[in-house]
Amino acid sequence: MEHVLLLNITYEPLKIINWEKAITLLFLEKVEVVEEYGREIHSISFTIKLPAVVRLLRMVKRPKAPVKFSRQNIYTRDKYRCQYCGEAFGSEELTYDHVIPKSRGGLTEWKNIVTCCVGCNRRKGGLTPREAGMRLIRKPSRPTWMPAVRITVGTSNIPQSWRDYLYWNVELLE
Ligand SMILES: [Zn+2]
Repeated sequence: MEHVLLLNITYEPLKIINWEKAITLLFLEKVEVVEEYGREIHSISFTIKLPAVVRLLRMVKRPKAPVKFSRQNIYTRDKYRCQYCGEAFGSEELTYDHVIPKSRGGLTEWKNIVTCCVGCNRRKGGLTPREAGMRLIRKPSRPTWMPAVRITVGTSNIPQSWRDYLYWNVELLE
């Protein structure tokens, strides 16, 4: 059965709920639908597209924690777009790039790591963007969002429609 990602009013992911709970919250006017699955739910009184992501209409406060530095979180920060050519890709076609190469003392940190497609990564090689004649579409920064609560479903089971909202609690292995 499909699960629904619950977001705070700030679009920060809070938790995964079942669809019945999501429908209840929707009917109580506590949430709005942000993303839908293709499938419809039918009952005697209504037909509705199954929500994939819902957003609370009132703020829920949570303790802040830094976003973990991980491959998935880098992709999420960059919206799965190569930061050189600007194209969107699936995670299997993406890698991450040290803007200032490691060989030149570039650090493995938020401000020096960007999402990069395999093609651009090959083209850039061990060069700086300037040397390679490439430009970043956006200056990388540390995300200000808090991480999602621990997500226990496997990465491959994550619905496409959740991707823009999730930060993963998986550390980047270097
Ligand atoms: Zn690219």
